[in-house]
Amino acid sequence: MSCYFQGCCEKGITKEHIPPRSFFPDGEKDQLLTVKSCERHNNLKSKNDLYALAQICMNASPSNRAREVFKKSIYPQLHYGNGALRKALIKDAIASPDGSVSYRVDTTRLDEFFSALSCGLIYKTCGSSLPSKYNISHIYHNLKGNYSPERHLIIECIEEFYSGQPMAIFDFGRPDLKNKRIYNVKIFGIADFLSSITIVHRFFGVFKVTSMLSCILDPRQSVVSR
Ligand SMILES: [Zn+2]
Repeated sequence: MSCYFQGCCEKGITKEHIPPRSFFPDGEKDQLLTVKSCERHNNLKSKNDLYALAQICMNASPSNRAREVFKKSIYPQLHYGNGALRKALIKDAIASPDGSVSYRVDTTRLDEFFSALSCGLIYKTCGSSLPSKYNISHIYHNLKGNYSPERHLIIECIEEFYSGQPMAIFDFGRPDLKNKRIYNVKIFGIADFLSSITIVHRFFGVFKVTSMLSCILDPRQSVVSR
């Protein structure tokens, strides 16, 4: 079985959880989705797991179980000396004159995490890795502190378009998720990689991310016959 990551032809030798085990409370870690990963891509994904979880919990708390997961998975790490995580979270913090502190989110790390998560979902849904012809980008709907009117408008359009069930032709398929209260996902796109693909993730029922896997069309392969 090959590695789950986009364009990777290495053999999958380690088991990769998609989404990570640390996202689920104790007692709810059974039957989680896994794919096979080569060593390089396993490390690439897991190095961002806790950072992504911390950001998701901070922006979703106190909703549902985000605070509970933060306390169980993130708080002990900060408390007992995970210096790398602490450093990453307070990097570029800005102190305001009123005494409040705002934290800049490292979207490069979040992007790496969500690209890997998207690759895992695609592999699990259709049994093959995302072809290299796809560009991956992400929109974070609920990140506090990076509001702009342009961003708000884009998010509104996306919300409207992807709020319902996909039309049959755009139903890419479903990975067999078990714990949808913690993590749920919808995948829009024509099967067999015949269109761009949109993945709508939702954590704890509130933290929403849209991943856009845009197909770069080769003009020589136009479907319109001339
Ligand atoms: Zn790989």
